Amino acid sequence: MFQRVCLVHYHEIGLKGHNRASFEVRLLKNIEFILASYPVVTIKRISGRLCVFIKEGVDYGSACALADRITHIPGVARVSCGFKCPRELEAFYQAAGLALSEAAEARGGFESFKVSARRNHTDFAIDSLQMNQLVGAHLCNLFPDKAVRMKQPDITVSVEVVQSAAYVYARSLAGVGGLPVGSSGRVICLLSAGIDSPVALWRLAKRGAVCLAVHFSGRPQTSAASEHLVEDIARVFEASGCIARIYVVPFGDHQRQIAALVPPGLRVIMYRRLMMKVAEALAAREHAQALVTGESLGQVASQTLENLAVTDAAVSLPVFRPLIGTDKQEIIDEAQRIGTFAISSQDAPDCCTLFMPRSPETHAKLDQVIAAESLLPLDEWIPRLVEAAEPHDYACAAYRPH
Ligand code: ATP
Ligand code: MG
Repeated sequence: MFQRVCLVHYHEIGLKGHNRASFEVRLLKNIEFILASYPVVTIKRISGRLCVFIKEGVDYGSACALADRITHIPGVARVSCGFKCPRELEAFYQAAGLALSEAAEARGGFESFKVSARRNHTDFAIDSLQMNQLVGAHLCNLFPDKAVRMKQPDITVSVEVVQSAAYVYARSLAGVGGLPVGSSGRVICLLSAGIDSPVALWRLAKRGAVCLAVHFSGRPQTSAASEHLVEDIARVFEASGCIARIYVVPFGDHQRQIAALVPPGLRVIMYRRLMMKVAEALAAREHAQALVTGESLGQVASQTLENLAVTDAAVSLPVFRPLIGTDKQEIIDEAQRIGTFAISSQDAPDCCTLFMPRSPETHAKLDQVIAAESLLPLDEWIPRLVEAAEPHDYACAAYRPH
Protein backbone atom coordinates (compact mmCIF):
# COMPACT_ATOMS: atom_id res chain seq x y z
CA MET A 1 0.00 0.00 0.00
CA PHE A 2 1.21 3.52 -0.74
CA GLN A 3 1.53 6.37 1.69
CA ARG A 4 -1.60 8.52 1.88
CA VAL A 5 -1.13 12.23 1.25
CA CYS A 6 -3.17 15.40 0.97
CA LEU A 7 -1.88 17.83 -1.62
CA VAL A 8 -2.71 21.41 -0.75
CA HIS A 9 -2.98 23.81 -3.70
CA TYR A 10 -2.86 27.57 -3.28
CA HIS A 11 -3.23 29.74 -6.34
CA GLU A 12 -2.94 33.24 -4.96
CA ILE A 13 0.26 32.63 -3.09
CA GLY A 14 1.79 31.61 -6.36
CA LEU A 15 1.41 35.19 -7.57
CA LYS A 16 3.52 36.73 -4.86
CA GLY A 17 6.90 36.71 -6.59
CA HIS A 18 9.84 36.87 -4.22
CA ASN A 19 7.53 36.78 -1.16
CA ARG A 20 6.30 33.41 -2.21
CA ALA A 21 8.51 31.37 0.11
CA SER A 22 7.41 33.26 3.22
CA PHE A 23 3.74 32.87 2.26
CA GLU A 24 4.23 29.16 1.75
CA VAL A 25 5.96 28.80 5.10
CA ARG A 26 3.17 30.78 6.80
CA LEU A 27 0.52 28.50 5.29
CA LEU A 28 2.52 25.41 6.18
CA LYS A 29 2.83 26.50 9.83
CA ASN A 30 -0.87 27.34 10.06
CA ILE A 31 -1.85 23.94 8.69
CA GLU A 32 0.67 22.14 10.89
CA PHE A 33 -0.75 23.87 13.97
CA ILE A 34 -4.36 23.04 13.14
CA LEU A 35 -3.55 19.42 12.33
CA ALA A 36 -1.55 18.95 15.56
CA SER A 37 -3.97 16.30 16.84
CA TYR A 38 -4.35 14.52 13.48
CA PRO A 39 -2.37 11.45 12.32
CA VAL A 40 0.16 13.40 10.26
CA VAL A 41 3.83 12.46 9.83
CA THR A 42 5.04 15.71 8.31
CA ILE A 43 4.14 18.51 5.91
CA LYS A 44 6.51 19.57 3.14
CA ARG A 45 6.66 22.16 0.38
CA ILE A 46 6.77 20.36 -2.94
CA SER A 47 6.89 22.20 -6.22
CA GLY A 48 4.20 24.84 -5.84
CA ARG A 49 2.08 23.02 -3.29
CA LEU A 50 2.17 21.57 0.20
CA CYS A 51 2.09 17.87 0.81
CA VAL A 52 0.64 16.51 4.05
CA PHE A 53 2.03 13.02 4.66
CA ILE A 54 -0.46 10.90 6.58
CA LYS A 55 0.47 8.14 9.02
CA GLU A 56 0.40 4.55 7.90
CA GLY A 57 -2.83 2.66 8.54
CA VAL A 58 -5.13 5.67 8.30
CA ASP A 59 -8.22 4.81 6.23
CA TYR A 60 -9.77 6.80 3.40
CA GLY A 61 -12.58 8.23 5.54
CA SER A 62 -10.15 9.65 8.11
CA ALA A 63 -7.92 11.03 5.37
CA CYS A 64 -10.95 12.80 3.87
CA ALA A 65 -11.91 14.23 7.27
CA LEU A 66 -8.40 15.62 7.56
CA ALA A 67 -8.61 17.04 4.03
CA ASP A 68 -11.95 18.64 4.83
CA ARG A 69 -10.45 20.35 7.87
CA ILE A 70 -7.69 21.81 5.68
CA THR A 71 -10.19 23.24 3.18
CA HIS A 72 -11.40 25.75 5.80
CA ILE A 73 -7.97 27.27 6.35
CA PRO A 74 -7.40 30.65 4.61
CA GLY A 75 -4.90 30.40 1.78
CA VAL A 76 -6.04 26.95 0.66
CA ALA A 77 -7.52 26.83 -2.84
CA ARG A 78 -7.95 23.08 -3.16
CA VAL A 79 -7.06 19.88 -1.33
CA SER A 80 -6.52 16.56 -3.11
CA CYS A 81 -6.60 13.18 -1.38
CA GLY A 82 -4.33 10.53 -2.81
CA PHE A 83 -1.08 8.61 -2.61
CA LYS A 84 2.65 9.09 -2.89
CA CYS A 85 4.24 6.32 -4.93
CA PRO A 86 7.54 5.44 -6.64
CA ARG A 87 8.26 6.75 -10.15
CA GLU A 88 7.35 3.48 -11.84
CA LEU A 89 4.53 2.71 -14.23
CA GLU A 90 3.42 -0.32 -12.26
CA ALA A 91 3.06 1.87 -9.15
CA PHE A 92 1.10 4.49 -11.11
CA TYR A 93 -1.32 1.80 -12.28
CA GLN A 94 -1.97 0.49 -8.80
CA ALA A 95 -2.22 3.91 -7.16
CA ALA A 96 -4.52 5.20 -9.94
CA GLY A 97 -6.78 2.16 -9.57
CA LEU A 98 -7.02 2.66 -5.82
CA ALA A 99 -7.56 6.41 -6.06
CA LEU A 100 -10.28 5.99 -8.68
CA SER A 101 -12.10 3.32 -6.65
CA GLU A 102 -12.05 5.44 -3.53
CA ALA A 103 -13.18 8.59 -5.32
CA ALA A 104 -15.98 6.60 -6.96
CA GLU A 105 -17.12 5.32 -3.58
CA ALA A 106 -17.08 8.82 -2.10
CA ARG A 107 -19.32 10.20 -4.86
CA GLY A 108 -21.57 7.15 -5.01
CA GLY A 109 -20.43 5.78 -8.37
CA PHE A 110 -19.24 7.28 -11.67
CA GLU A 111 -19.76 6.89 -15.41
CA SER A 112 -16.75 8.63 -16.94
CA PHE A 113 -13.17 9.54 -16.11
CA LYS A 114 -9.98 10.87 -17.57
CA VAL A 115 -6.32 10.81 -16.65
CA SER A 116 -4.38 14.02 -16.29
CA ALA A 117 -0.64 13.37 -16.00
CA ARG A 118 2.18 15.85 -15.51
CA ARG A 119 5.91 15.65 -14.97
CA ASN A 120 7.79 18.62 -13.63
CA HIS A 121 11.12 17.38 -14.99
CA THR A 122 12.12 15.75 -18.22
CA ASP A 123 14.43 13.39 -16.31
CA PHE A 124 11.45 11.04 -16.16
CA ALA A 125 11.52 9.27 -19.50
CA ILE A 126 7.78 8.96 -20.15
CA ASP A 127 6.12 12.21 -21.14
CA SER A 128 2.70 13.30 -19.92
CA LEU A 129 0.89 12.27 -23.10
CA GLN A 130 2.25 8.74 -22.86
CA MET A 131 1.44 8.59 -19.15
CA ASN A 132 -2.14 9.62 -19.91
CA GLN A 133 -2.45 6.84 -22.48
CA LEU A 134 -0.78 4.12 -20.41
CA VAL A 135 -2.54 4.84 -17.11
CA GLY A 136 -5.80 5.43 -19.00
CA ALA A 137 -5.53 2.06 -20.76
CA HIS A 138 -4.89 0.33 -17.45
CA LEU A 139 -7.96 1.97 -15.87
CA CYS A 140 -10.08 1.01 -18.89
CA ASN A 141 -9.16 -2.62 -18.25
CA LEU A 142 -9.96 -2.26 -14.58
CA PHE A 143 -13.31 -0.51 -15.18
CA PRO A 144 -14.39 -1.82 -18.60
CA ASP A 145 -17.93 -0.41 -18.43
CA LYS A 146 -16.79 3.18 -17.80
CA ALA A 147 -16.19 5.79 -20.48
CA VAL A 148 -13.14 7.96 -20.98
CA ARG A 149 -14.29 11.54 -21.44
CA MET A 150 -12.00 14.53 -21.93
CA LYS A 151 -14.66 17.17 -21.26
CA GLN A 152 -16.25 17.24 -17.80
CA PRO A 153 -15.59 13.66 -16.75
CA ASP A 154 -17.12 12.53 -13.43
CA ILE A 155 -13.65 11.85 -12.05
CA THR A 156 -10.20 13.09 -13.05
CA VAL A 157 -7.29 10.90 -12.01
CA SER A 158 -4.15 13.03 -11.65
CA VAL A 159 -0.65 11.63 -11.81
CA GLU A 160 2.08 14.12 -10.99
CA VAL A 161 5.72 13.17 -11.24
CA VAL A 162 7.59 15.56 -8.97
CA GLN A 163 11.30 15.21 -8.20
CA SER A 164 11.99 11.66 -7.05
CA ALA A 165 8.38 10.55 -6.48
CA ALA A 166 4.90 10.65 -7.94
CA TYR A 167 1.57 11.74 -6.49
CA VAL A 168 -1.65 10.17 -7.63
CA TYR A 169 -5.10 11.44 -6.65
CA ALA A 170 -8.67 11.40 -7.88
CA ARG A 171 -10.60 13.47 -5.38
CA SER A 172 -10.22 17.20 -4.82
CA LEU A 173 -12.13 19.42 -2.42
CA ALA A 174 -12.50 23.18 -2.89
CA GLY A 175 -10.83 25.33 -0.25
CA VAL A 176 -11.85 28.77 1.01
CA GLY A 177 -9.09 30.54 -0.93
CA GLY A 178 -7.60 33.81 0.26
CA LEU A 179 -4.23 34.25 1.97
CA PRO A 180 -2.71 32.55 5.01
CA VAL A 181 -3.51 34.20 8.35
CA GLY A 182 -0.41 36.10 9.41
CA SER A 183 0.59 37.31 5.97
CA SER A 184 -1.24 40.67 6.17
CA GLY A 185 -0.65 42.18 9.62
CA ARG A 186 -3.01 42.58 12.55
CA VAL A 187 -6.46 44.10 12.97
CA ILE A 188 -8.91 44.63 15.81
CA CYS A 189 -12.51 43.65 14.99
CA LEU A 190 -15.47 45.05 16.88
CA LEU A 191 -17.31 41.82 17.46
CA SER A 192 -20.88 41.75 18.69
CA ALA A 193 -22.88 38.56 19.01
CA GLY A 194 -24.87 39.65 15.94
CA ILE A 195 -24.83 38.20 12.45
CA ASP A 196 -22.72 40.80 10.67
CA SER A 197 -19.53 41.38 12.61
CA PRO A 198 -18.41 37.71 12.60
CA VAL A 199 -18.70 37.76 8.80
CA ALA A 200 -16.62 40.96 8.68
CA LEU A 201 -13.96 39.32 10.84
CA TRP A 202 -13.93 36.26 8.61
CA ARG A 203 -13.35 38.40 5.50
CA LEU A 204 -10.27 40.00 7.02
CA ALA A 205 -8.93 36.67 8.29
CA LYS A 206 -9.41 35.26 4.82
CA ARG A 207 -7.27 38.06 3.44
CA GLY A 208 -4.46 37.05 5.75
CA ALA A 209 -4.96 39.38 8.74
CA VAL A 210 -4.42 38.13 12.26
CA CYS A 211 -7.76 39.05 13.87
CA LEU A 212 -8.13 40.13 17.45
CA ALA A 213 -11.54 41.22 18.63
CA VAL A 214 -13.15 43.41 21.22
CA HIS A 215 -16.61 42.65 22.53
CA PHE A 216 -18.53 45.21 24.55
CA SER A 217 -20.78 43.44 27.01
CA GLY A 218 -23.76 45.05 28.70
CA ARG A 219 -22.48 43.66 31.99
CA PRO A 220 -23.21 44.52 34.79
CA GLN A 221 -26.45 46.01 33.46
CA THR A 222 -27.21 42.80 31.54
CA SER A 223 -26.23 39.16 31.96
CA ALA A 224 -23.10 37.75 30.31
CA ALA A 225 -25.22 35.93 27.68
CA SER A 226 -23.72 37.81 24.71
CA GLU A 227 -20.24 36.90 25.96
CA HIS A 228 -21.11 33.21 25.78
CA LEU A 229 -22.30 33.61 22.20
CA VAL A 230 -19.12 35.46 21.28
CA GLU A 231 -17.13 32.64 22.86
CA ASP A 232 -19.03 30.11 20.69
CA ILE A 233 -18.36 32.23 17.59
CA ALA A 234 -14.68 32.36 18.51
CA ARG A 235 -14.55 28.55 18.69
CA VAL A 236 -15.83 28.37 15.10
CA PHE A 237 -13.04 30.69 13.94
CA GLU A 238 -10.43 28.96 16.08
CA ALA A 239 -10.97 25.73 14.12
CA SER A 240 -9.40 27.37 11.07
CA GLY A 241 -6.88 29.54 12.94
CA CYS A 242 -8.80 32.75 12.27
CA ILE A 243 -8.94 34.33 15.71
CA ALA A 244 -6.19 35.06 18.21
CA ARG A 245 -7.70 36.89 21.16
CA ILE A 246 -10.94 38.55 22.28
CA TYR A 247 -11.05 41.40 24.76
CA VAL A 248 -14.35 41.47 26.62
CA VAL A 249 -15.13 44.92 27.97
CA PRO A 250 -17.91 45.36 30.56
CA PHE A 251 -19.65 48.40 29.12
CA GLY A 252 -23.11 48.58 30.74
CA ASP A 253 -22.32 51.14 33.43
CA HIS A 254 -20.75 53.51 30.92
CA GLN A 255 -23.75 53.20 28.66
CA ARG A 256 -26.00 54.04 31.56
CA GLN A 257 -23.99 57.19 32.22
CA ILE A 258 -24.00 58.16 28.54
CA ALA A 259 -27.77 57.69 28.52
CA ALA A 260 -28.04 60.03 31.49
CA LEU A 261 -25.72 62.70 30.09
CA VAL A 262 -26.31 63.07 26.33
CA PRO A 263 -29.45 63.79 24.25
CA PRO A 264 -31.28 60.49 23.49
CA GLY A 265 -30.88 60.80 19.71
CA LEU A 266 -27.09 60.86 20.03
CA ARG A 267 -26.70 57.94 22.42
CA VAL A 268 -26.00 55.25 19.84
CA ILE A 269 -23.39 57.39 18.09
CA MET A 270 -21.81 58.09 21.45
CA TYR A 271 -21.65 54.41 22.37
CA ARG A 272 -20.13 53.67 18.99
CA ARG A 273 -17.49 56.42 19.22
CA LEU A 274 -16.50 55.27 22.68
CA MET A 275 -16.24 51.67 21.43
CA MET A 276 -13.99 52.87 18.61
CA LYS A 277 -11.74 54.80 20.98
CA VAL A 278 -11.36 51.83 23.32
CA ALA A 279 -10.70 49.55 20.35
CA GLU A 280 -8.06 51.98 19.09
CA ALA A 281 -6.32 51.98 22.48
CA LEU A 282 -6.30 48.17 22.44
CA ALA A 283 -4.97 48.28 18.87
CA ALA A 284 -2.04 50.42 20.04
CA ARG A 285 -1.27 47.87 22.73
CA GLU A 286 -1.46 45.02 20.21
CA HIS A 287 0.33 46.82 17.35
CA ALA A 288 -2.78 46.36 15.22
CA GLN A 289 -3.09 48.60 12.19
CA ALA A 290 -6.82 48.91 11.55
CA LEU A 291 -10.27 48.51 13.09
CA VAL A 292 -12.98 46.39 11.49
CA THR A 293 -16.76 46.57 11.91
CA GLY A 294 -19.72 44.68 10.46
CA GLU A 295 -21.57 47.78 9.30
CA SER A 296 -23.48 47.81 6.01
CA LEU A 297 -24.68 51.03 4.43
CA GLY A 298 -28.19 52.02 5.52
CA GLN A 299 -28.89 48.77 7.35
CA VAL A 300 -29.89 50.50 10.58
CA ALA A 301 -30.13 54.12 11.75
CA SER A 302 -26.52 54.24 12.93
CA GLN A 303 -25.23 53.16 9.52
CA THR A 304 -25.99 56.20 7.38
CA LEU A 305 -23.08 57.91 5.60
CA GLU A 306 -23.24 60.84 8.05
CA ASN A 307 -23.16 58.61 11.10
CA LEU A 308 -20.40 56.41 9.75
CA ALA A 309 -18.30 59.53 9.13
CA VAL A 310 -18.92 60.79 12.66
CA THR A 311 -17.93 57.38 14.02
CA ASP A 312 -14.75 57.33 11.94
CA ALA A 313 -13.82 60.78 13.19
CA ALA A 314 -13.49 59.36 16.72
CA VAL A 315 -10.26 57.58 15.81
CA SER A 316 -7.25 58.02 13.59
CA LEU A 317 -6.74 54.37 12.63
CA PRO A 318 -8.33 53.23 9.36
CA VAL A 319 -11.77 51.66 9.93
CA PHE A 320 -12.56 48.81 7.54
CA ARG A 321 -16.15 47.83 6.83
CA PRO A 322 -15.91 44.82 4.55
CA LEU A 323 -19.72 44.45 4.45
CA ILE A 324 -20.51 48.04 3.51
CA GLY A 325 -22.03 47.09 0.15
CA THR A 326 -23.42 43.71 1.12
CA ASP A 327 -27.15 42.97 1.52
CA LYS A 328 -28.44 41.38 4.70
CA GLN A 329 -29.42 38.19 2.88
CA GLU A 330 -25.95 37.88 1.38
CA ILE A 331 -24.45 38.37 4.84
CA ILE A 332 -26.77 35.69 6.25
CA ASP A 333 -25.77 33.26 3.48
CA GLU A 334 -22.10 33.84 4.23
CA ALA A 335 -22.67 33.47 7.99
CA GLN A 336 -24.31 30.12 7.26
CA ARG A 337 -21.37 29.00 5.14
CA ILE A 338 -18.81 29.89 7.79
CA GLY A 339 -20.91 28.37 10.56
CA THR A 340 -21.68 31.38 12.77
CA PHE A 341 -25.30 32.02 11.76
CA ALA A 342 -26.98 29.60 14.16
CA ILE A 343 -25.02 31.08 17.06
CA SER A 344 -25.67 34.69 16.07
CA SER A 345 -29.38 34.01 15.66
CA GLN A 346 -29.78 33.29 19.34
CA ASP A 347 -31.12 36.16 21.35
CA ALA A 348 -28.87 37.69 23.94
CA PRO A 349 -29.11 41.14 25.43
CA ASP A 350 -25.82 42.93 24.84
CA CYS A 351 -24.92 46.53 25.00
CA CYS A 352 -26.69 47.13 21.63
CA THR A 353 -30.06 46.50 23.21
CA LEU A 354 -29.32 48.52 26.33
CA PHE A 355 -30.58 52.08 26.80
CA MET A 356 -31.66 52.42 23.18
CA PRO A 357 -33.44 55.68 22.34
CA ARG A 358 -36.81 55.58 20.60
CA SER A 359 -35.58 57.55 17.59
CA PRO A 360 -31.83 57.60 17.07
CA GLU A 361 -30.30 60.42 15.03
CA THR A 362 -29.71 59.33 11.46
CA HIS A 363 -27.84 62.44 10.29
CA ALA A 364 -25.50 63.27 13.15
CA LYS A 365 -23.43 66.49 12.88
CA LEU A 366 -19.86 66.18 14.07
CA ASP A 367 -19.83 69.52 15.94
CA GLN A 368 -22.99 68.65 17.89
CA VAL A 369 -21.63 65.22 18.70
CA ILE A 370 -18.32 66.66 19.89
CA ALA A 371 -20.16 69.23 22.02
CA ALA A 372 -22.27 66.49 23.63
CA GLU A 373 -19.23 64.28 24.06
CA SER A 374 -17.41 67.00 25.99
CA LEU A 375 -19.83 66.27 28.85
CA LEU A 376 -18.28 62.83 29.23
CA PRO A 377 -15.07 62.25 31.18
CA LEU A 378 -13.49 60.24 28.34
CA ASP A 379 -9.94 60.84 29.56
CA GLU A 380 -10.82 58.79 32.62
CA TRP A 381 -13.13 56.32 30.94
CA ILE A 382 -10.95 55.10 28.10
CA PRO A 383 -7.96 54.00 30.23
CA ARG A 384 -10.38 52.51 32.76
CA LEU A 385 -12.22 50.50 30.10
CA VAL A 386 -8.94 49.35 28.55
CA GLU A 387 -7.75 48.29 31.98
CA ALA A 388 -11.01 46.39 32.57
CA ALA A 389 -10.79 44.55 29.21
CA GLU A 390 -10.60 40.81 29.86
CA PRO A 391 -8.44 38.94 27.30
CA HIS A 392 -9.54 35.49 26.12
CA ASP A 393 -6.97 33.64 24.04
CA TYR A 394 -7.52 31.22 21.16
CA ALA A 395 -5.16 28.95 19.30
CA CYS A 396 -3.68 30.89 16.38
CA ALA A 397 -0.30 29.92 15.00
CA ALA A 398 0.33 33.38 13.57
CA TYR A 399 -0.12 35.33 16.82
CA ARG A 400 2.47 36.13 19.48
CA PRO A 401 1.41 38.56 22.23
CA HIS A 402 3.61 41.65 22.40
P1 ATP B 1 -23.89 43.02 14.09
O1 ATP B 1 -24.83 41.98 13.54
O2 ATP B 1 -22.49 42.82 13.68
O3 ATP B 1 -24.10 43.23 15.56
P2 ATP B 1 -25.68 45.14 13.55
O4 ATP B 1 -26.36 45.15 12.26
O5 ATP B 1 -26.42 44.67 14.75
O6 ATP B 1 -24.30 44.37 13.40
P3 ATP B 1 -24.98 47.48 15.01
O7 ATP B 1 -25.53 46.92 16.25
O8 ATP B 1 -25.35 48.86 14.61
O9 ATP B 1 -25.23 46.62 13.74
O10 ATP B 1 -23.41 47.43 15.10
C1 ATP B 1 -22.59 47.88 14.08
C2 ATP B 1 -21.19 47.36 14.30
O11 ATP B 1 -20.67 47.87 15.54
C3 ATP B 1 -21.15 45.84 14.45
O12 ATP B 1 -21.09 45.19 13.21
C4 ATP B 1 -19.90 45.65 15.25
O13 ATP B 1 -18.75 45.73 14.44
C5 ATP B 1 -19.92 46.87 16.18
N1 ATP B 1 -20.59 46.50 17.43
C6 ATP B 1 -21.89 46.65 17.75
N2 ATP B 1 -22.14 46.18 18.99
C7 ATP B 1 -20.97 45.72 19.46
C8 ATP B 1 -20.56 45.09 20.67
N3 ATP B 1 -21.42 44.85 21.64
N4 ATP B 1 -19.27 44.76 20.82
C9 ATP B 1 -18.38 45.00 19.83
N5 ATP B 1 -18.71 45.57 18.67
C10 ATP B 1 -19.99 45.93 18.48
MG1 MG C 1 -25.58 44.40 16.72
